[in-house]
Amino acid sequence: MAACGVCGGARFAAFFEAREWSSSGRYLRPGEPAPNAEPIAIALEYCQDCGLIRQQPGHEVRLDYSGIERDTAKQLPDYSQRILASLADFGVGPHDLIVEAGANDGTFLKALRDGAYRNLIGVEPSRRLAARASAAGLTMRNSYFGVTVAGDLAREHGAARAVICRHTLENVPDIRAMMQGLASVLAPGGLAFIEVPDADWIIANLFAHEIWDEHISYFRASSLARLAAGAGLSAVRMERVRFRDTCNLLFWAVRPDGEGGGGPAADRLCDTTSLADFGTFQARWDAFAARLRSAVAAAARPIIAIGASHIQLNFLNFSGLDGSVDLMIDDDPVKAGHFAPLASPVPIRATPDVLASVRAGTILHTAFPYPAWEDRIRASLAPHGVASIKPYASRPTN
Ligand SMILES: [Zn+2]
Repeated sequence: MAACGVCGGARFAAFFEAREWSSSGRYLRPGEPAPNAEPIAIALEYCQDCGLIRQQPGHEVRLDYSGIERDTAKQLPDYSQRILASLADFGVGPHDLIVEAGANDGTFLKALRDGAYRNLIGVEPSRRLAARASAAGLTMRNSYFGVTVAGDLAREHGAARAVICRHTLENVPDIRAMMQGLASVLAPGGLAFIEVPDADWIIANLFAHEIWDEHISYFRASSLARLAAGAGLSAVRMERVRFRDTCNLLFWAVRPDGEGGGGPAADRLCDTTSLADFGTFQARWDAFAARLRSAVAAAARPIIAIGASHIQLNFLNFSGLDGSVDLMIDDDPVKAGHFAPLASPVPIRATPDVLASVRAGTILHTAFPYPAWEDRIRASLAPHGVASIKPYASRPTN
């Protein structure tokens, strides 16, 4: 049993188990065989001492991010300006060194540059994404971030005044080493800004579709603050923000200035779920999924799911509808015209094509972040007798 990366404890209990037919991001060309003959197991457990949720050791989905090219340019949230403004609140000036760990294609660094910050370094493992950021004039290091890189940067450029780590911590195998790296790249008094998905949101809303094979760890407010405190960082602010249909934790912490360290961090935000809610998540999901499968089994075919991104594939895999969907709708050219790897490959077609041709069956409202898209499809197809099911309408939450 590997010790908990947050509290060092060893008492873990099962949180969620499910299967999926492919790791994220795989779409099949017509005639291309499915990537796996058998589904892959997803197995999550939670620490009964601190509430960290993690992929079970030995069952981690290990991805090589050095070859991944998916950019986040379209995912810069509407609250980015608030994050930028917060740097000045904590005394980070235009010429102070700011390091971003997991800088992707430089989207956030460009926002910093537009905000008049001039001394920026991005660290990004993906070769292509790092190259793209370099081509945009940003200073990049093509590497995984960690204690070693932090030491190299501090030697070459001096200690940083701020370090940014957005939607990266949940993907790394060793969260303790990652947090130590973030702390060690900072000068005394330096600021760390960390953003991760809020696990409370998933648990309270029974949103299993946000459980994702790329996420090794799932944090609540308390486990994130405790991990930072373990690396010597003191919490100074934490916020919970909605983004589309998800919820993120925004966390600011400082490396204490002077002797004596910062001591244990004060939790600035309370958890919204209890460990008892963790223990019932699987049973609540299973009961919900069984009811949904019955409704879909009784519905008119074809069964058509809206969206073919990882959240829809997660939802269909985890709810046991992986063999029940006949068609998926997605306008992304990476997906439309291709097939989604479910129990058997499911064709993906663009919205105009579906609206012009489908005249029977049932629409599954699985577009989650995009209700307007769902409404447009339903309004267009309902006059032809096409039915609708809103999967989450009847779910129990706490
Ligand atoms: Zn723990």
